[in-house]
Amino acid sequence: MNIYAEEIISHYEHPHNKGKIANASVDFHEYNPTCGDDITVYLDIRDGKVRDAKFDGQGCAISMASASMLTDEIKGKSMAELEKTGVKELIELIGIDPGPARLKCATLSLKAIKKALFLYQHKEVDDSTKEL
Ligand code: ZN
Repeated sequence: MNIYAEEIISHYEHPHNKGKIANASVDFHEYNPTCGDDITVYLDIRDGKVRDAKFDGQGCAISMASASMLTDEIKGKSMAELEKTGVKELIELIGIDPGPARLKCATLSLKAIKKALFLYQHKEVDDSTKEL
């Protein structure tokens, strides 16, 4: 087994940032029907930065390990930095090429985080609109 596969297993067995954030700024649930992976991400956003990130759910080793690594990675990042994080960055982060069959597993948490961000930004627009 190579070192990257070991890291995937290690994150799967001992996931980082697993759980919920009470009063999260935003959360988003995402499901991957081809594998059955089920993830909800929670983001605590303050002053335009991710103060805390957690995930909850269940799924295969790749989906869980990538959620664990990604939530580690995005803590402290700004909204702009998060927007620049795409599939290519995620693949570099997890250190393996999941291949087409497992790509959806690997990107599920990224997709959930992107959608949460989108939702959050719209919420901000609504809040500022209310003040006008
Ligand atoms: Zn999966």
